[in-house]
Amino acid sequence: MANEKIGLFGGTFNPIHYGHLNSMESVAEKLKLDKVLVIPACQNPLRAKTEGPTPQERLQMAKLAVGTLDGDLIQVSDNEIKRGGDSYTIDTLKELSKEHASADFFLIIGGDNLNSFDGWKDFEDIISMSNIVFTSRPGNELPKTERRLPSWLKDRLGDFDLNTGLFKTGKTLHFVQLDDVDISSTEIRRHARRGLDVRKYTHPVVDDYIKEHQIYDRVGKKIPDFVEFTKYCAKILDDKGAINIQAFDVSKIEQPTDYTIVCSGTSSRHVLSLMDYVSHGVKDDFGVYPQGLEGNQDGRWVIVDYGGLMIHIFYDFIRNEYQLEDLWREGKRIEL
Ligand code: ATP
Repeated sequence: MANEKIGLFGGTFNPIHYGHLNSMESVAEKLKLDKVLVIPACQNPLRAKTEGPTPQERLQMAKLAVGTLDGDLIQVSDNEIKRGGDSYTIDTLKELSKEHASADFFLIIGGDNLNSFDGWKDFEDIISMSNIVFTSRPGNELPKTERRLPSWLKDRLGDFDLNTGLFKTGKTLHFVQLDDVDISSTEIRRHARRGLDVRKYTHPVVDDYIKEHQIYDRVGKKIPDFVEFTKYCAKILDDKGAINIQAFDVSKIEQPTDYTIVCSGTSSRHVLSLMDYVSHGVKDDFGVYPQGLEGNQDGRWVIVDYGGLMIHIFYDFIRNEYQLEDLWREGKRIEL
């Protein structure tokens, strides 16, 4: 009898959405998988700590969404949440290999991770224990020719032809083009925080759960006055040498937030240190982590998202390209 083919779909799932479900269902169909395990991480070691649902709440949302699907092809695993701490795929693979001794694993990963996969802990061991599936994701095209493969991948492939390859380890590589669903959890969190309906992004059972447990309103509850909070953050940035700091009340214009700050650092390192100073200062004084941190790797433009306040920190050199102040001109400038 052939080995059972099990897809492993890991992620933060903060919250789970139709983009995730589309990916796992399409891959299961295209690669004829017998089962897909959705594995919410306890803590993603590559992401900063953020405010929001507990691991148990993310797990519960995943269970609710998966529960709406027909059949039991897709199942939710609490493996990483039960283990606790930082969630490393290699540890999950080792544990699951014991539970499913004769299975063939297919690790399903969004294409946004293709260039950084060699930074995952023990990735060499991962590609010797599991087949790897990269899917398309809006904004991330999959490479179509061998020349366009990232070098970590080129070096480890014995063979590559169109959408499939063979690792020197004997495991297979698959690129799966999805009918892309342009949704991200970040967008859902922003909508949910404003009390907007997120039913076009995720199943109504998840939306109900978010509302009932006020999953994405928690940052706002810890910050009593956002105008004062905006001034407080601007002061930290000023103390640490940020330049050209401007703040706006954008609550009356179409924006995902109520208040914004834009400022610059003099180098990408300075940008990253400004991000650290402001997020540590707020944690110490308000007891709150950001709801999200974006673009925090290359330090050209980072966003520290406190729900009602979004702080944009640019490397000054590229700030002019975006001219965010122009977008906010119809809002109200806040005197700092
Ligand atoms: P965030 O917006 O918080 O960064 P995310 O949706 O990127 O969230 P995860 O929940 O960790 O983050 O995603 C789990 C997996 O699903 C990842 O491999 C990711 O690349 C993939 N993924 C997320 N959204 C989509 C989508 N719309 N289409 C295809 N794959 C997706």
